[in-house]
Amino acid sequence: MPQLKSEGIILRSVNWKEHSRIVTFFTDNAGKLAIVDRGGRSIKSKRGRLLSFSRLEITYFKSERTGTGYIGEVEPLESFSLERDGSLGRLTFASAALEILNDLLPESEPQEDLYHLTVTFLRHIDIDPKGALLAVFLAYFIKLLSYMGYRPNLAGCVTCGRERGEIAGDHQAALAFSPERGGLVCHACQTAGEYYIRVQPDQLDTLYSLQTSSLSEAAGVQLTMRKGEELLEILTTFMKYQTGTGELKSLKFLEKLKRTQLT
Ligand SMILES: [Zn+2]
Repeated sequence: MPQLKSEGIILRSVNWKEHSRIVTFFTDNAGKLAIVDRGGRSIKSKRGRLLSFSRLEITYFKSERTGTGYIGEVEPLESFSLERDGSLGRLTFASAALEILNDLLPESEPQEDLYHLTVTFLRHIDIDPKGALLAVFLAYFIKLLSYMGYRPNLAGCVTCGRERGEIAGDHQAALAFSPERGGLVCHACQTAGEYYIRVQPDQLDTLYSLQTSSLSEAAGVQLTMRKGEELLEILTTFMKYQTGTGELKSLKFLEKLKRTQLT
């Protein structure tokens, strides 16, 4: 088996056989990668520690023929303690992001830009002021969906292409967002029985600016908890329809978030 090297973040780890586990990483050069940590649950394991919420340098062996692999060495490069201000909120945001990645990333397809965005996201979640976390998370979430090929169309009607400004004239207030079609739908293109989320123009403006801004810029976006939750609801509903993965664990994130005192 050839020896390979990647930088990666742990997405999940499940016990396997008596002393081992299967660890799924999001890596810089190999995308999502599930490999065996042989004897990793044994106290005698001499391999470097597999730290969660950390950038790790992983040396591993992988068979090109069978696709199975196992971990050789692990070297921690950077850790995110997520403990600043003693809030559970940071951990909740970071966990939700990794859950969504684990659900949506295809196996062994390199996503280098998304990997680096994820590292940047974790740095922000680790140190940004509490009040900025929700906006940073939403910006990351919407970008992650776009990388996965689910880019919500917020600029105009997904069917006829009329611009948002024009569509807004049809309605006095809310616009219709179809999670199934993946964007706004003008009045003329709406069909009876289709499900729409009603989106206020100011919600759209915020989503649009989060979609187009960097994570640093997103940290400066003023967002109330209530508005943030509404936007999160729109994005999670959109993700559920688009990805067809059924009940995503990350949807429970909404509930967790509501229980966590963030503000
Ligand atoms: Zn239309």
